[in-house]
Amino acid sequence: MTQADPATRSRRDGDLPEPRVYERAEHGISRALIDDNALKVLYRLREAGYRACLVGGGVRDLLLGREPKDFDVATDATPEQVRGLFRNCRLIGRRFRLAHVLFGREMIEVATFRAPHDDAEGDEQVALSDEGRILRDNRYGTIEQDAVRRDFSVNALYYDIEDFSVLDYTGGVEDLRAGVLRLIGDDVETRLREDPVRMLRAVRFSAKLGLRIAPEVEAGIRDVATLMQTVAPARLFDEVIKLFHSGAAVTCLDELERFGLFAPMFPEAAACFADPETGADRRQFLVESLLNTDKRINEGLGVNPAFLYAAILWAPVQVEAAARIEAGEQEIPAWQQAMAEVLDRQVKTVSIPKRFSLVVREIWELQARLERSRGGRALRLLTHPRFRAGYDFLCLRARAGDADPELCRWWTELQEQDEAGQKALAGTASGKGPKGRARRGGRRRRRGRKGDSGGGGQDGGSGNSPSGGDQGGSE
Ligand code: ATP
Ligand code: MG
Repeated sequence: MTQADPATRSRRDGDLPEPRVYERAEHGISRALIDDNALKVLYRLREAGYRACLVGGGVRDLLLGREPKDFDVATDATPEQVRGLFRNCRLIGRRFRLAHVLFGREMIEVATFRAPHDDAEGDEQVALSDEGRILRDNRYGTIEQDAVRRDFSVNALYYDIEDFSVLDYTGGVEDLRAGVLRLIGDDVETRLREDPVRMLRAVRFSAKLGLRIAPEVEAGIRDVATLMQTVAPARLFDEVIKLFHSGAAVTCLDELERFGLFAPMFPEAAACFADPETGADRRQFLVESLLNTDKRINEGLGVNPAFLYAAILWAPVQVEAAARIEAGEQEIPAWQQAMAEVLDRQVKTVSIPKRFSLVVREIWELQARLERSRGGRALRLLTHPRFRAGYDFLCLRARAGDADPELCRWWTELQEQDEAGQKALAGTASGKGPKGRARRGGRRRRRGRKGDSGGGGQDGGSGNSPSGGDQGGSE
């Protein structure tokens, strides 16, 4: 470990820390581990005379010996200058202006070093809301300034293409070694107010990477958790997917609840889970769904955001439908109305784009059809475009004691048959088919015994399920 040679590190700010420099031999990141397109971007920027570093999750994950999800580049070139260097480049974002360099389906995100916002009075490139939230963040600065305005120390490490060293301005390497997730800067609350999504990022990184959230960050999150309500619903849609598609979804759910972050985003689901009588069972269904999602992600299988939202919001739909039926509404319109209203109310906090909410409804609507279809109808249902997602959902409900395991088994068997066998099974279904009906709505079945629910869709890869547990495929 050596101090930086000031001659080789451009544009240093007097009051900002010198970086710890981890030379090539000290950090174990080899270029062979870095995406070719990211390397192309780094080299092209450097050849044009700019600074170019890999930053963020790419560096963090490589230091942890994990395969990065994506590679982000930071540079002193402005977005316009970046666009000048790459034909396949577009500029995006108003709040945070960025360059996206496209290589076929792959994209490398290039961000210009940012300056802090604290001394930004009168600067129209920067804006804060009354709660201290960053509304605009486009004042460019030096690499040192850029480092200290990132979120966590482990996310503020720079792999410098100039000499392949890792530059650490915030103690991120030591924190990684100690397994700690620490916010940069002394004033935790201010950093969380600037961008409350950092609270969700803390939960996600700690769950996914097995890092401990530093105690002062834990305390800060509890203090300002309700600020989650001020975040744009569209942004929360993306963040929720990142949380629950992280491969550690169950831990994320536990942690979100522990910090009081789940309820501001999903008030109705949280209220259902808090019900002393039915809450535990209803939550268990979501847990089963998330376990299934984790398994699929960790096996490299596709997952669909619609399936996730269908699972999170299933409890509120059940409760709403039961209340309507109790009040005398007919069963079918009561369910239809419940689905529509729960979705309408939900999008006020976490938005769900139409292309997903339509699929959410289809998955829900299929539940009644899977419970009731016999004979030719059952066979036709097999070709429904959402059949697999609906069937997986049914089997997860069975596993959580919310549907009859026999029903899941029957649909599993039906799919395993050849054409003649399917006809035979469906044709005799009225006598031999799914016996019980899942009880939906207010009253609850007892939870089935573990392992008694047929496996079906949730056991993708076990050979138990003809569909392999598709969750409706990926989007
Ligand atoms: P991953 O891509 O694995 O989810 P990441 O750390 O790369 O994790 P990105 O969202 O890709 O996360 O962001 C890249 C980097 O940008 C982060 O590592 C961090 O340095 C910075 N960053 C992202 N979001 C924020 C934020 N809300 N506040 C401060 N810095 C952020
Ligand atoms: Mg990233």
